[in-house]
Amino acid sequence: MFLSVVVPCMNEQDAIPALVARLEVVIAPYKERAEIILVDDGSTDATWDAIVAAQSRVPQLRGLRMSSNRGHQVALTAGLEAARGGRIFMLDADLQDPPELLADMMAMMDRGYDVVYGSRREREGETWFKRASASAFYRLLNLMSDVEIPRDTGDFRLVSRRALDAVLAMPEKARFVRGMFAWVGYRQIGIEYTRAARTVGETKYPLRKMIRLAMDAMTGFSTRPLRLATRLSFVSLGVAALMMIYVLHSMLAYQTVPGWASVIVAISAFSGVQLLTLGILGEYIGRLYLEAKNRPLYFISEDTETPVPVQLKTRA
Ligand code: UDP
Ligand code: MG
Repeated sequence: MFLSVVVPCMNEQDAIPALVARLEVVIAPYKERAEIILVDDGSTDATWDAIVAAQSRVPQLRGLRMSSNRGHQVALTAGLEAARGGRIFMLDADLQDPPELLADMMAMMDRGYDVVYGSRREREGETWFKRASASAFYRLLNLMSDVEIPRDTGDFRLVSRRALDAVLAMPEKARFVRGMFAWVGYRQIGIEYTRAARTVGETKYPLRKMIRLAMDAMTGFSTRPLRLATRLSFVSLGVAALMMIYVLHSMLAYQTVPGWASVIVAISAFSGVQLLTLGILGEYIGRLYLEAKNRPLYFISEDTETPVPVQLKTRA
C-alpha cells in the first residue's frame, strides 16, 4: 500500500458523496495501491449509511465505525492506526481543505520531507469569532508550548510512515495530533492554501470542544502554565507583603480602621489567583488521572472490511 487517506467524519451525511467523488479523482493515479479510510465518529445521522453506500461503489474505500463519539482527534487516531500506506494523507470531511493539494504535498515528500502540512493563508466563510479565536489560540499555544507548533495549521497534512509510527508510539490519551507531529521532528514543511468555506453542514467544533482542544494542546505540550502558577503566587506574595507594610503604617500613623476597601481588594485579588492556580493544577491532575487509568481510546463497532463485528478492535 502506497497511500492512505484518513478522514474523520461526524454527522457528515451530506458531505460524504462529494468528498468521496473528489478523493477518487485525487487517488486515481495510485489505483489499488491507495486506500480511503472514513472513520464515523459516532454520528447520529446517516453518515454510516453514506459510507457503506460509497464503499459498495469504491473498492479502495474502507469505513470504520466507532462505538460512540470520541471527538475529532480520537477519530483521526483510529483512522491513522488502521492506515496501511507508506504515506498518509489526512483531511476533514467537509472539503474545507482541498484534496487536490495532495499532488503538491506528494512532490514535497518526494524531495525528502516527512511531514507536509497545509498552512491556511486565508479562511473563507468562517465567522469573525472563529478566526479571531483560532488566531489567539495559536499565538497563546506557541507562547506557552515547549515545541514550535506551526500557526494556522489544522490536521490537514501528508506524513510519511516513519513520522506516523512515531506519533502512534506516543501513549497519551489527550491527543493533539498536529502538535504530536510537530514534536516528532524529521523534516517538515508547510504549503500555503486558501481554506474554503464548509460546503455542507455546519461546524462540529462548538466553543466547548474548541476550549477542550486548546486545553489538551496547552497541557500536552507545556508545563509552563504550572510554572505560571508558581510565579503568580510569588507576585501575589510580594504584593501582600507591601500591603502588610501599608496596613501597619496606617495603623500606627492614623490609628483608624479604614482599610475596608483594601481588605476587599486583597481578598478578591488573592482568591482570584488561588482559584486560577488551583484550576491549572486541576487541569493537569485531571489529565494525569485519565492517563493513569489507561483505558482504550476507542472501540470499533463496524468495519466494512470485516462485515460481521467479531471482536472489538481496541487501542491499548
Ligand atoms: N469531527 C469528528 N468528531 C467530532 C467533531 C468533528 O470526527 O466530534 C470531524 C468532522 O466531521 C470534520 C472534522 O472533524 O471532518 C473537522 O470538524 P469541523 O469541520 O466541524 O471543524 P472546523 O473546520 O469547523 O474547525
Ligand atoms: Mg471544517
